[in-house]
Amino acid sequence: MKVEVILSFYTWNKDNSENITAQRFHRFLMFVFQQRYLENFYDMPKSGDKIKRQKNSTHLVKKLKEMQKFFGLEETGQPDEETMGVMAMPRCGVPDALGYKLTEGNPKWKRNEITYSIMNYTPDMSKADVDSALEKAIQIWSGPSPLKFTRIYKGEADIKISFVLGDHGDNSPFDGPNGVLAHAFQPGQGIGGDAHFDEDETWTMGSSGYNLFLVAAHEFGHSLGLSHSTDPGALMFPTYSFSEPRAYILPQDDINGIQFLYGHSTNSINPTGPTTPRTCDPQLTFDAITTLRGEIIIFKDKYFWRRHNQLPKPELHKISLFWPSLPSGIQAAYEDDEKDLVILFKGNQYWALSGYEIRPGFPKDISNFGFPRTVQAIDAAVSYSNYGKTYFFVKNQYWRYDNRKRAMDPGYPKNIADKFQGLRSGVDAVFQKDHYFYFFTGPIYHKFDLHARRIVAVGRSNQLLNCR
Ligand SMILES: [Zn+2]
Ligand SMILES: [Zn+2]
Repeated sequence: MKVEVILSFYTWNKDNSENITAQRFHRFLMFVFQQRYLENFYDMPKSGDKIKRQKNSTHLVKKLKEMQKFFGLEETGQPDEETMGVMAMPRCGVPDALGYKLTEGNPKWKRNEITYSIMNYTPDMSKADVDSALEKAIQIWSGPSPLKFTRIYKGEADIKISFVLGDHGDNSPFDGPNGVLAHAFQPGQGIGGDAHFDEDETWTMGSSGYNLFLVAAHEFGHSLGLSHSTDPGALMFPTYSFSEPRAYILPQDDINGIQFLYGHSTNSINPTGPTTPRTCDPQLTFDAITTLRGEIIIFKDKYFWRRHNQLPKPELHKISLFWPSLPSGIQAAYEDDEKDLVILFKGNQYWALSGYEIRPGFPKDISNFGFPRTVQAIDAAVSYSNYGKTYFFVKNQYWRYDNRKRAMDPGYPKNIADKFQGLRSGVDAVFQKDHYFYFFTGPIYHKFDLHARRIVAVGRSNQLLNCR
């Protein structure tokens, strides 16, 4: 059974939960789906009959926990909605292994001069575009390492690249559109190092379908001996997320991996790459914070943390994984309880989220809120739901907006220091809980009591992420 069939049942069934037969069928499909996922990516032994499966249920729980740990999810051992959501994301076909970022046994090429050949082409793109996407993808690994890649047109190359579909003779059949996008083999003779791309996907140069450069760069990491990384910002993270190929810089986690295997580049300057924020960095600062249906969402560069009270540690994800059309560097965010919306700001644009869905018709211009043209960006925003008011912070001033009248209250802007005494200007982020506003400025936060109208606590910003 193909993965996408199961997934469409999954979505369909959510709206038909009163139908008992459908529910049982749904449970069966979910079971098959998670079973397949864990067999394919977590080395769970394939089980044949029902009795064997029941015996395997402790094994299933163990493997589910392993998968949840890899993705930084709560290790419940249960196929909860979030876990199934991650399982449904498009990804690489190479299994995930906990504890090492290198392939077991560290297989690597014995020489630094590596050849590649393009065996065939996808009809989705022009040949020239395929050539340049693959060339760029493989060369991304040469910058920080001593590796040199040469394309050859005859003879057997180390890395043979092909577009294939379904069962293509290597015991790892592709699964039709979405699901598994591609896979590649670790360094070695014959099929070793080869990279296969699922022709049932739509390959592109841009953000629609699947970007060939991004997927190929990841696969070539396997061709060179790297395994999957648990760093959500790494190229070697197993799930696909779009980022602009023209501006793509190999992340530091991947640089560390390739340099561990092959050493540094012989060039005098070795490139460095972007690092993923470290959750308990004492200097950690935030871009924007908001509540979202009882969770707290904390934005930072390309990433966000999700904090909910049941979780021992917050989850870190790439923004593009959840909202492919949102930019990085969100500057302000607030939740409008009454409308059940979260509003996100960057520059003079804003987006509305309903749960985890971006509402159609966005982004819109912040002049809709009644800001003068001189305001081109908002530092922080928070809604005080009891009163239906939203506060916007810009440099040393703040505005107050009436959510019901959809207009700024008269008499604004005012100076932040006048109402929020003791607060520094240049607020990075703010959110509301009970009758408190939590203001974040650099690595410090201030807890402001809205009843007593004064600061009642000060601490390090990363305490929000349960850091001590
Ligand atoms: Zn992979
Ligand atoms: Zn294959």
